[in-house]
Amino acid sequence: MKQIHSFPTLDRSPLTTAAVYAQDYRDRKSNLHPTATLSELRESFGGDLPARGQPGTEIIDELIAAAEPGLVGNTQPGFHAWVMGGSHPVGVAADWLTSIWGQNAALYQGSPAAATAEEVACGWLLDILDLPRTASVGITTGATMAGFIGLAAARDEMLRRDGHDFAETGLQYAPPVTVFVSEETHASNLAALRYLGFGSRNIVEVPADDQGRMNVDALSRLMAAPQGPKIVIATAGHINTGAFDDLNALADLAEEYGAWLHVDAAFGLWARASVSTRAMTEGIERADSWSTDGHKWLQIPFDAGFAIVRHEHAHRRAMDITASYLPNEPRDGRNATSYNPELSRRGRGFAVWATMKAFGRDGISDMVRNHCDCASLLAHKLQHVRGIAILNDVVLNQLVLSFDRGRGKTDADRLTRAMEDALNADGRHFFRTAQWRGRCVLRVSIISQDTGPLHMQELAHKIIELWHEIGG
Ligand SMILES: *Cc1c(COP(=O)(O)O)cnc(C)c1O
Repeated sequence: MKQIHSFPTLDRSPLTTAAVYAQDYRDRKSNLHPTATLSELRESFGGDLPARGQPGTEIIDELIAAAEPGLVGNTQPGFHAWVMGGSHPVGVAADWLTSIWGQNAALYQGSPAAATAEEVACGWLLDILDLPRTASVGITTGATMAGFIGLAAARDEMLRRDGHDFAETGLQYAPPVTVFVSEETHASNLAALRYLGFGSRNIVEVPADDQGRMNVDALSRLMAAPQGPKIVIATAGHINTGAFDDLNALADLAEEYGAWLHVDAAFGLWARASVSTRAMTEGIERADSWSTDGHKWLQIPFDAGFAIVRHEHAHRRAMDITASYLPNEPRDGRNATSYNPELSRRGRGFAVWATMKAFGRDGISDMVRNHCDCASLLAHKLQHVRGIAILNDVVLNQLVLSFDRGRGKTDADRLTRAMEDALNADGRHFFRTAQWRGRCVLRVSIISQDTGPLHMQELAHKIIELWHEIGG
């Protein structure tokens, strides 16, 4: 048996301090809402940078004391404001080790272990999502960067098919590429397009229906006008409603016009992991690229996302960084830098590998089903309450609520905001409102690993009780 050496010269106490605190923090489920004000936080973190370094344990104690009042309990079951996951403890532990090992996961030769964990986890991902097993995957910081990568590959490939080499023409000498997006596309896709050099003149906004789904007839009409190379961005899992575009219809149109189909499926792609929701994703497998998150439904600690591209050559043409000092021998495994915009990067594959293993296939599928069942249960409890309007078809894990006693939009918007405040007041829930289709809505996302039916019973009861006080 190999001896595991200990290194007595290494000061282990900051690590131990963090580990002991970590278990306690997770066990006691601290505040959902920050308790410190901005000026208090500036005060606790502030002061001049000391001339001399301090002992590590002291710094960690100080960091905990300064940070905790400014933390948000987004990993907890009562957090419904945005689509965020629960930072699975096994993923967190793997993430700690990632830092302990301090690997630079750019190249296989820089960390064969990180490269191989990543390679295996990417295979599992394609398998559980049932996407083409030959697709290439980049592990990113999130769905925004995953979208950026998919769209970079799209731009390169669409120009190549039109007879232009992007590496040579750049944007300045290439013909315009037209991108078709829903008027309700997630803001991060517009940001990704901006990073890639697309302006509003390249972007055609397609009307959406009352669930946020792209209008297929309108898309068909708009695509028929003569334009050069085309990209279509579909949505699987609308940020408010959870709705899916008609993916088969979009894939048909993309095929007809020789366009690249990218699907923003930041959390919706996971519907494919459960038989109860898989049908909504039909047609998604026909796309050219997909962006999805690891830190949302898969509960991987921040940050993790996946850029999945059907055409590996296009993916690599858009992303690869090569130089003679960055080796990749034929006998080597995966060079992550071929699929990401970064060179030096964190070994994100360890946390992905560990979290997927912690759930297993069935665990992922059960979790998705549980969250969707939770959303249905909450809808069921609220649907007949006078004045509570559920504005979306509850098809996934999202509810869009408005509180309206029939005295006009201004009154309803004010009441919805009052409900937001009231729901947040006892610190047991975290909600936010948004503007959607011209009105104020309360968004309910059910996506944290620990959220279950009992939380929904309690939440429904609280919503109804508060509504009777506020709207009655
Ligand atoms: C969250 C989300 C994004 C952006 O993902 P990040 O991980 O925050 O970068 C994009 N699209 C949709 C539909 C999302 O829900």
